[in-house]
Order: sequence, then structure tokens, then C-alpha cells
Amino acid sequence: METRFTNKQLHQAPIKVANDILRTCVHCVFCTATCPTYVVLGDELDSPRGRIYQIKDMLESGKPAPANTVKHVDRCLSCLSCMTTCPSGVDYMHLVDHARVYIEDTHKRPLPDSALRILLAMVLPRPKLFRLSLIGARLMKPLRAVLPGRLKNMIGIAPDSLPKADPIGTVKAQGETRMRVAILPGCAQQVLAPRINRAAARLMSRLGCEVFEAEGVGCCGALTHHMGKEAAALAAARQNIEAWERANPDLIAITASGCGSTVKDYGFMLKDDPAWADRAAAISAKARDISEVIAELGLEGVEEFEKPRVAYHAPCSLQHGQKNLDGPADLLKTAGFAVSTPKNAHLCCGSAGTYNIMQPEMAVELGGRKAKSLDVLDAEVIATGNIGCLIQIGEYAGTPVVHSIELLDWATGGPSPLAPLAPLKN
Ligand code: SF4
Ligand code: SF4
Repeated sequence: METRFTNKQLHQAPIKVANDILRTCVHCVFCTATCPTYVVLGDELDSPRGRIYQIKDMLESGKPAPANTVKHVDRCLSCLSCMTTCPSGVDYMHLVDHARVYIEDTHKRPLPDSALRILLAMVLPRPKLFRLSLIGARLMKPLRAVLPGRLKNMIGIAPDSLPKADPIGTVKAQGETRMRVAILPGCAQQVLAPRINRAAARLMSRLGCEVFEAEGVGCCGALTHHMGKEAAALAAARQNIEAWERANPDLIAITASGCGSTVKDYGFMLKDDPAWADRAAAISAKARDISEVIAELGLEGVEEFEKPRVAYHAPCSLQHGQKNLDGPADLLKTAGFAVSTPKNAHLCCGSAGTYNIMQPEMAVELGGRKAKSLDVLDAEVIATGNIGCLIQIGEYAGTPVVHSIELLDWATGGPSPLAPLAPLKN
């Protein structure tokens, strides 16, 4: 794609990166058919190529982001399905990340919109505040019918009850210690489903790992990063890098693939900061999705019992963001589960961080489609690898939804994950 940035613009590092990305797009339009928003809306402006053109025009102009471009960039799920499809290797992720920062810096949003974004950026990364807000949302459920769209959706997503907090602390290795693994607590996940990290810790411990939460680690920064709130996202990244450096684990295990994609990207996010670039890259190199940790350790101790049929949903952040399409499904098969995958497995479930709150109509449509495609597989349980997908699909599917690590833990001596599902269902 031809670009027309001025020399002065090209001296700004983010514009230089955007220019290089834009120039790799050859307009071939292959990405369009695999973009969920284009599939639903059929509008070229809501396709990857359409967004790339709009982002190019916006950045070249150097003017405040126009409202129409903001609308179509906001509708992008950052699912990165387009990156898997693109034959030219267009790095759409870093292009849209920069576009969101540019929009945040230059566009004045309507007051309710910016207030909601500030609220989400404040509440979601703080587990105690998040827990309180979910309790408040639950109390408001009787009023849901008369609330406006986004608020109605927010209240609807809130579960009827919450499990008790269950911080991992330190879990010793069973037998000889093969490695020390820091597990990311995950801000929303530790409130909604602490059982996921507990299952991961049990399994890693059985496989010879000391598992611990490094002191001082907080939100990975993904939520603010995807809102274009760059300063907050980078502050979160720096705080975590320092905390993990102090703890010096062999690996960092992440059970929410949305968070994993962000921690793996710390090296890129801080590449222009000389004081942090190498440190960030070193931390990113230690980051693993939990399925990658288990694969590296080798799954052992599988017990023989009748296991349920599993429908596996690959989170976008794992299959497109981390290029790990089959890892968890392969582990489940090794553990003796019969695993099937849905049609259009590449399409997003509509969760996408705060997307299901900010873009409720599209999220409802995509959530319904995804749940239907999983329900028809006639499995007894749906497994996935990201808390957002787990909640979103659980909202629409008629089949219970768990994290794949819970099934792997169960298959190797842990408790069945099917009983504690009730608190997550509405
Ligand atoms: S990230 Fe997803 S929603 Fe956004 S343009 Fe790419 S395929 Fe479409
Ligand atoms: S598939 Fe890649 S090269 Fe083709 S239009 Fe989409 S982003 Fe551009």
C-alpha cells in the first residue's frame, strides 16, 4: 500500500512502525472473509482492509481522529483473525494498537462513552473494586429491563454469585523441583473463577513445579492497552516486569490467553524505552500460555476413567494472537478426552476484553453464533482458555463451559471441574 507520510512524521517511532506495516498490505482482500465484523455487517469499512485504509488516512492527516473512523476502529474486536489469514504478514495488531492510542489522544468522545471507559479502566484491573462492582451489578439486576443498552449488558454479564477469593500463594513441587513457575493471578479471573489458577497450580505441582504468585504483580495492562490508554498500560507492564525480575521465575504461566498475548508483547510495547526494552523482552521470553507450560513439562499421570466429550473453543488471543491453535486440544486428547471443534472456529465469540460491554449488539450476535456452533457438537462440556470467552460462551451456550486446564487437572488426579460451574451461570 502506498503511504504519504512526511519526513517529520516518519521521525516519530510509532508512525515509522505504522508506515512499515501499512506498506506490507497488498489490498488482496483475503482477510475480509474471516473478519467477524465484516461477516456480520457486510460493510467494507468494518473489514480489516477497510480499517487499514481508514487508519492510514487518519495517521497521514495528523488531525484529530474523525468520528466515523473511531466508530469502525471501535467495532474491531482485535481478534486478529485477519492476521492469521493475511498472506502478506500485515502486522494488524500493532497497527490497530497504535490507532487506538492515536484516537485516545486526539478524539473527544461523547461524555457517557468516555465516562464508561474511565470507569472500566479503573475498576477491571482492581480485583477488590471489581468484586464490589459485581455485587452492585447483581443488586441492580431487577432493573435491567429498563436500563439503556450498555448498562443493561453490563448488568446482564454479572454472575448471580461469586466464589470466595483463593490466592495461590506458593504451592510446592511434588517430588523434585524441576522449575519455579510464577503464575499471573489475572484481575477479572481471580474474582470470577479462582478455581482455574488453582487447577493449574495443582497440575504444575504434580509435574514438578514450584508455583507462586510473585509479589507486586498486578493487572497485565491488556484492558487499558486495548482502550488506547497507553500510559496506564505501560505503567502496569513496568510494575510487573520489576516484580517478576525480583522473583526470577524460570517461566511465567498465564491461564487467560488475553493476558498472555499482552505479556508476550511487553518487549514490543517498551522497545523504544532504552531503560526498559531489554528487561521487557526478557520477561516476554519467559511468558507462556498454561498449555505451553504443560506441553513443555510433558503431561504425565493420566488416570483411566470415562471422560466427557469435549468441544474445544480456541480463544482468538491464543489461536491468532499467540499462534497456538491446537495446543490445548492436543493436550486434552493426550489426557483421553474425545475433542471436537466447531465450524468457523476462527471467528471470535464476541468477548474481546471490554468489547462485550462497549459493543453489546455485535457481542450478543457473535456470542449467540459461537454458542450455537459449539452446542451442535453434542459435547458434554465446552473447554476454552480465556476467562472472557468462558463467561461469554457460558452466557449463551446450553453446555457447561470450563477452562481446559481444569479438565487436564481432573484427568491427572484433581477434582472434577463440573460441580463448581453453577456460580458462573446466570
Ligand atoms: S482484528 Fe478481528 S475484527 Fe478487527 S479487523 Fe481483524 S479480523 Fe476484523
Ligand atoms: S489479507 Fe493482508 S494484504 Fe490482503 S488486504 Fe488484508 S491485510 Fe492487506
